[in-house]
Amino acid sequence: MSQTDLSRRNLLTLSVLVIASRSAPTVLSRRLLPGPFPRLVRMPLPTSAADIQAQGGDTQNAHQFRAPFPVSHAGLSWHGAPDADIETRYAGPNKKWSQWEPFWLSADMSVDTNLTNSKDTSSSRFFSALLRTEQALEFQVRVLSGLVSRMEISLIDAQSNSPSPAIPKGDALPAPSIITRAMWKADESLRAKNPSHAPIERFILHHTATSNKDNNPEATVRAIYAYHTETREWSDIGYNFLIDAKGHVYEGRWARDYKKEELHDGEDQTHQGVIGAHAKNHNTGSCGIALLGNFEKAVPSAAGIAALNTLLAWKNAVHKLNPRSIHKNLPRIMGHKDVGSTLCPGKRFFALLPAIRKETEKIILASQLENPGYRVILRSGKVQNFGTAATTTLATHTPQDNPPHSSASTPIVSAMESATGYWLAAKNGEVLAFDDAKFYGSMGGKHLNKPITAIAPTPTNKGYWLAAQDGGIFAFGDARLHKARTADHHTLSRIITMRASIGGRGYYLLSSEGEIHTFGDAKFHGSLTPPTDENRDDPAVALVLLLPQSVSSLLDSHRKNDTFR
Ligand SMILES: [Zn+2]
Repeated sequence: MSQTDLSRRNLLTLSVLVIASRSAPTVLSRRLLPGPFPRLVRMPLPTSAADIQAQGGDTQNAHQFRAPFPVSHAGLSWHGAPDADIETRYAGPNKKWSQWEPFWLSADMSVDTNLTNSKDTSSSRFFSALLRTEQALEFQVRVLSGLVSRMEISLIDAQSNSPSPAIPKGDALPAPSIITRAMWKADESLRAKNPSHAPIERFILHHTATSNKDNNPEATVRAIYAYHTETREWSDIGYNFLIDAKGHVYEGRWARDYKKEELHDGEDQTHQGVIGAHAKNHNTGSCGIALLGNFEKAVPSAAGIAALNTLLAWKNAVHKLNPRSIHKNLPRIMGHKDVGSTLCPGKRFFALLPAIRKETEKIILASQLENPGYRVILRSGKVQNFGTAATTTLATHTPQDNPPHSSASTPIVSAMESATGYWLAAKNGEVLAFDDAKFYGSMGGKHLNKPITAIAPTPTNKGYWLAAQDGGIFAFGDARLHKARTADHHTLSRIITMRASIGGRGYYLLSSEGEIHTFGDAKFHGSLTPPTDENRDDPAVALVLLLPQSVSSLLDSHRKNDTFR
């Protein structure tokens, strides 16, 4: 969707002219009762002083026309100046008038309609984006500037009392959950039967320029569908997908009938995408995705952008497209304004495009990562390899305090991966480093009050800590000792495991009683404490740390420079 420049420029034409009509409006098309939502009527509006007086209004005072039903969304079309300032306000059952709101020009176009930039626009018909009007029963419309004629308002009731759909679970990563047309209650009689398809080459992002405060986005999707088919007379809703502020993805233009378990992907059986109506001259070969709302001044919601990224990742992955690549001189993922003179998808949304491309790529790469194998470590230090983890070499090092052994002299108690190798720690403090994991020292051959129970590498893998059962910590390489953050560290006992904090300047210790002890920058979130007889029977055995954006850092190391621009 779009508008042209809506600043209050050159008020050269009409003084404030209030369109009024006391008499019942002429209804061009009527589909009021009964049947599925939405209801939509189109009514012509007078545009000249003579028209208004002829219909019983006057040019000085506001007169409103009544709607035939509570109106949830309204759209306007007109001839003349595409940048005309036309406003409306409305009142619902409580009779309170809303603020004046402008009708935003929509630049979302079907393949067979034309919004020209030439001087001869007088014969062209222009359409606004839809306005959310709550439950409006009365309207006023005024033209602030711009010569317009043959105005027509579309009044839509897309509200429904039936409950909103349950959101289905998406398929395998990265396919998102999609609210199907049946779920958002699309009236399938409104659309044409035989859509056209073409291979998907790119993704064009839009905003709908509708309200950002929308308590019923499903109704707005229905309203857009009715507006596109009945007022704009397109064969179906223009967009291929729509996304609301909570991150719900709605199936847009109908592509085919789906089998029950099939994902509604907007494509035919050969994975050609259905051709939508959203970006003039670029509908064929593109997938049009619209975020509900107006993002010229407001920033899209995080949930909306996250859903968009997931949707884009899924589509790019299916079609094997690089989301950061250029194709036929245009980005694979772009905003409507990249191919048309429009503000769509809004300044704040458009500014997010580089981040969206990057995040889309990350999701795709993350979904392609897999563990190539694993090793099972036996108490004796023997290693069983599975998958491609077939070979293992003891690191070649000659530290004075711990000459290399093929196995430790006491039982192995802990193992940790490095990026491309691993360490084993033995009860007596010996450390064995394998493959590319480096040896940074050990407690082998030194006096220990209590046996070693855990080894924890630093995030850089350039060092590690050893933890003893009594909470004694020994640091090697770039590992540092940190101050306890939990008060009762003097009671440390039965420590069974240790993990570095994500920041790397601290660590967690876990006791078999389930007590968590935090050191340095390790954030404390709670603990099983004090120990009771109950959890002595059910000891803690492992600590799993939750990671923020865990794939991001991983992927940076997997990225190949020559693949991306
Ligand atoms: Zn657009």
